Amino acid sequence: MTRWRGVWGEKGRASSPPFPDGRVFSGSLGWYKVGNPIGHRLAGSGAEEFPGERDTMGWQGIDGHDDVVARFVAAEARGRIAGTYLFIGPEGIGKGAFTKALAKSLVCLAPRPGLIACGACASCVQAAAGSHPDIDIVSKPDDRSTIPLEVFIGDREHRMREGLCWRILLRPALGGRKVAVILDADHLAEEGANCLLKTLEEPPDGAVIILVGTALERQLPTIRSRSQIIRFSPLDTEIVRRVLAAEAIDGSGPSPAAIAAAAGRSGGSIDRARLLLDPEIETIRARLLEQLAARPFNGVELSKEVQASVEAAGKDAPPRRARLRILLGTAVDFFRAAMRRDAAGPTDPAAAPSPPDAALVRAVNAWGGTAEDAIDGLRRTLDALDGIDRNAHLPTLVDAWSARLEPLPPPPRSVPR
Ligand SMILES: [Zn+2]
Repeated sequence: MTRWRGVWGEKGRASSPPFPDGRVFSGSLGWYKVGNPIGHRLAGSGAEEFPGERDTMGWQGIDGHDDVVARFVAAEARGRIAGTYLFIGPEGIGKGAFTKALAKSLVCLAPRPGLIACGACASCVQAAAGSHPDIDIVSKPDDRSTIPLEVFIGDREHRMREGLCWRILLRPALGGRKVAVILDADHLAEEGANCLLKTLEEPPDGAVIILVGTALERQLPTIRSRSQIIRFSPLDTEIVRRVLAAEAIDGSGPSPAAIAAAAGRSGGSIDRARLLLDPEIETIRARLLEQLAARPFNGVELSKEVQASVEAAGKDAPPRRARLRILLGTAVDFFRAAMRRDAAGPTDPAAAPSPPDAALVRAVNAWGGTAEDAIDGLRRTLDALDGIDRNAHLPTLVDAWSARLEPLPPPPRSVPR
């Protein structure tokens, strides 16, 4: 630590020249670089196109989140953009795309009113080319359960001569600002967070650090207390439908009815809606609901089938995790609906959420459990979902989840001695 305390404690910035565009920090990790292409995550799944100049939808091509946009527009107008933000909201609702659009606007040399990037200045051109030296985006690598320390302060050989905490001290190459984005903030380990604290407390003038996570409870208290917290809501079903419809515009994609159904079950998440459009999912989902409702419940069979459909999603871990997330999300829907049923009586399929989710309604009506069982099942399923995010071994996770859904065995009559 002491080796870089000097740089650390300095007010202002180190005076090193900016890197040539796209210089890769090879180090032992080799998966992030300065001026990385802002349209793509360098690690992790869910690569998404930079929203850029898609003018047909909301602010800079971002549909939804108008309240957050208004907040930033007002803050910028008053010269009150904070040094550290913590963006919180469910997965797949466009927080990453929003953050990238915001970063582009914040470094634009001639932003238009409403915090809209001009699209023509040197900064916008670099941002569009994916090589902006003042926009620094890091995330958790797929094969790690946390964001490695090196990402923030460089590897052992380059402590505080590489890494996000060091790069943010450099003078902006193009304009007056540097923006650092830490995606996957849920996976910030204590060690990494500790290295960030000083930066968060005293960000260099004009630097903006944005952490992006899913739930406030998953953020370390030290990070929470140093950040301005911005909450993102799930998207309206109609927005999800519109985004999916725009993607399917070439006519070869899913039907409008399938899109509407997926949007209705998406919980406001575009990622989830996209996965639900997979034609296989409909069958797998219906089968899962049937098994969840079945009495006697067969945990072993459930585990076997869930694992088979996870494996069918492909060889790589990200699609497998995505598939399991959808299946467990279905179980969450099931247990939630079962809790409601217990409170309100059987649901009339015609009164089910639009569009009607016949398979879900059928399963819930057939289920013999109590509200308490449903709460229990919900809790266990949410735990399992959490395990996916923590990179748990999937077969073990599925086994444990399905076993825990089994009704408890009766207590032994006597303890043999
Ligand atoms: Zn510009």
